[in-house]
Amino acid sequence: MWPFRAKTTPPRRFRYERFGGIAQLGWPRALVFVDRDRARSLGYRDGGALWKGEEPGLDGVLSAPLEAHLQLTNRCDAGCQGCYTGASPKGERGEWGLAEWKLAIDELAERGVFHLALGGGESAVLPWLGEVARHARGRGLVPNLTTSGLLAEEELARLCGIAPLFGQINVSVDGVGEVYARVRGFDGFARADAAVVRLRRATRHVGVNCVVTRDSFEHLGELFAWAKKRRLREVELLRFKPSGRGARTYEKLRCTDAQHLALLPTVLELARRYRRRVRLDCSYTPMITAHAPDPRLVRWLAIYGCAGGDLLIGAKAHGVVTACSFAAPPPGGPTVEKLGAYWGQADAFPPFRAWQEAAREPCRSCEYLALCRGGCRVVSAHVAGDAAAPDPECPRVLAHAASQQAGAGSAMRRLPVVG
Ligand code: SF4
Ligand code: SF4
Repeated sequence: MWPFRAKTTPPRRFRYERFGGIAQLGWPRALVFVDRDRARSLGYRDGGALWKGEEPGLDGVLSAPLEAHLQLTNRCDAGCQGCYTGASPKGERGEWGLAEWKLAIDELAERGVFHLALGGGESAVLPWLGEVARHARGRGLVPNLTTSGLLAEEELARLCGIAPLFGQINVSVDGVGEVYARVRGFDGFARADAAVVRLRRATRHVGVNCVVTRDSFEHLGELFAWAKKRRLREVELLRFKPSGRGARTYEKLRCTDAQHLALLPTVLELARRYRRRVRLDCSYTPMITAHAPDPRLVRWLAIYGCAGGDLLIGAKAHGVVTACSFAAPPPGGPTVEKLGAYWGQADAFPPFRAWQEAAREPCRSCEYLALCRGGCRVVSAHVAGDAAAPDPECPRVLAHAASQQAGAGSAMRRLPVVG
């Protein structure tokens, strides 16, 4: 909820929820959850059926996702060894075109979704990408884009021309110089860097997406220094996921448990030193809670863990909805333009939605359960062979397993302590 009195612009959009509503601010660029009293004070007084009955807390599924990650195509020539979608130059059979994606965006707008994350494959090769972005803007959604930057001259020029349509464009750069080549399996840094320079001239809302691997972790300082030199506003760090080709290369590329524990202090230090805004993806929440922050602070900072099928959804290149962009489609899941009917089903998005109620130890007794929601389901499915298992790379889960093996002692007492 909104506990402070900072100077802000009036909400651009507002969506009613059972607890009150969600205000989209222009400045600071944020989605703010407000209770019913605050909503009324902002002029939003008619929650309709959503406001019938007693005002609940924040727990519970939202009336619609906040953002949708749309894989507009699974075409991509790059062939990265860890590609989480297994993209190829041919893409997938049955990929949607512009008309279908426009209908999908209409449905998402109708449901009150705020943001689109457009990705691939490589969506910037699509001649109609600008049309998608314009349509989203016209329906009140903010389109954001992720690109490899590995584009032909004509594609890059076209992207620079439509760049101002996007709320944010992040270029995927998993390391500087030869680190990029070690992570991706080919030398593409110079081309990605050149694309960043061009895009940065077209819009100031350019950032970098970096999938952190055991090879690149020790070189994050070089990435931050480069981001500062290129005047990139945002550094988004993503945990390596065992999906697509990433499933085959997971053991080789994933960070070590020691690196996971060192992530938060490392990132805080780099953010201070290079004065960049940093985002960590949802799957890193157990690596944050391992440092025992006050749960109220975690909630206030809106650090949420596995939000698939609730705060966010994904959609494959043929339109089928997923809980998040790394997850497989749920059995019987719809295509995006039919999201509404599926969203309200009690058994939608297994095992994501029902996870908290069915949580196993040590998540069940973890004070961060409602926020973290058991870590990453995609990692659990791959490493533990069970998508409903607690995240096997969470430091607390590892400590619990060690204490079970030792047969004695408190799991939490055995949690490694880092400065
Ligand atoms: S499975 Fe959950 S934690 Fe993992 S990437 Fe998807 S939404 Fe995030
Ligand atoms: S024990 Fe479970 S709920 Fe707690 S931080 Fe780890 S994965 Fe998240």
